[in-house]
Amino acid sequence: MKIPFVDLAAQYAAIKPEIDAAIAAVIAENAFIGNPGNRHVQAFEQSFAAYCGVKHGIGCANGTDSIEILLQAAGIGQGDEVIVPAMSWISTSEAVTTVGATPVFADIDADTYTIEPVQIAAKITPRTRAIIPVHLYGLSADMDPILEIARRHNLIVIEDCAQAHGASYKGRKVGTMGQAASFSFYPGKNLGAYGDAGAMITNDDQLALRARMISQHGQAKTKHDHQIEGRNSRLDGIQAAVLNVKLPHLEAWTEARRRNAQRYRSLLATCGLRLQAVPEGLRHVYHLFVVQVAERETVMQRMNDAGIVTAVQYPRALPLLTAYSRFGHVPEEFPNAAQLAARCLSLPMFAELGEAAIDRIGRTLTEIAGKAG
Ligand SMILES: *Cc1c(COP(=O)(O)O)cnc(C)c1O
Repeated sequence: MKIPFVDLAAQYAAIKPEIDAAIAAVIAENAFIGNPGNRHVQAFEQSFAAYCGVKHGIGCANGTDSIEILLQAAGIGQGDEVIVPAMSWISTSEAVTTVGATPVFADIDADTYTIEPVQIAAKITPRTRAIIPVHLYGLSADMDPILEIARRHNLIVIEDCAQAHGASYKGRKVGTMGQAASFSFYPGKNLGAYGDAGAMITNDDQLALRARMISQHGQAKTKHDHQIEGRNSRLDGIQAAVLNVKLPHLEAWTEARRRNAQRYRSLLATCGLRLQAVPEGLRHVYHLFVVQVAERETVMQRMNDAGIVTAVQYPRALPLLTAYSRFGHVPEEFPNAAQLAARCLSLPMFAELGEAAIDRIGRTLTEIAGKAG
């Protein structure tokens, strides 16, 4: 039997009556668009903010927009530099370019894979305005030193939480430590909609107001009262209704992911493969379970032949993508990101993945890569 990389059908099967009723209600009410007053969107914004432990939640069209809108709301644009990790999905750096600013890449830590504070400090110039730490694979970045650097240089911190719903750092939830945070609800994320969706959270009243205005064509509270030019980036009614059904299940799904990860860790403890290190006091939510292997293409092919689907997040460090050739970066500038990009392999990870499947994956991987790794 084939083991998929993620299984959204299994999750749907468990909550089908609730989901179907929620979608039917949106259709019956014509509540499709996330205009101010859409009850499904409002309910989700409030419950997601409460879940995160912040004052404001603002829905938007997707996770990429959520980073972009927050940067714009914070007044970042032309002539500004924003420090981002050398390993992430392209949205993190793309959002910086889209608002007219310049992404400046900092290498990651070799063990935790999140942005390395010493590397951030080395990249600061008089033009630096913000840092976007990414909580990669579901593990919080090392926020205390990052916040300290930001304080010293008067920088804004926007946390990219797209992979880390519910993760925490020394008792603090991700998304609550910087000035604001962005979330994606892409279907495969830990909290996923049935299409594109995103949200921004913050405790800052001004930032919240500006972010909401930007996402709603510059309207503050009343329709047709365009205070500024904004854009269209709304969370739609059907996605909000799906998220309202799923949010109460998130903690149980996260605990299942963590149990799965523990089982992987004990199975792989003696096979010699390098795993992401989790520092004391951090709650990893395992959006991805990543191992490092040599000869990755061969390992993936052999795993696939054995009926196990794996993936690569991500095969190239961000600064080394063709999209950034204008900067002329070389791998030697980002040795840790370059090494992870060359060796990372993501194993199947989702709440419904059973113990038997994990055991089979662990055994198969040990046979295929245990010594070569
Ligand atoms: C998924 C993701 C995003 C973007 O989310 P979309 O909803 O796909 O636009 C941003 N940052 C990271 C780290 C992601 O994994």
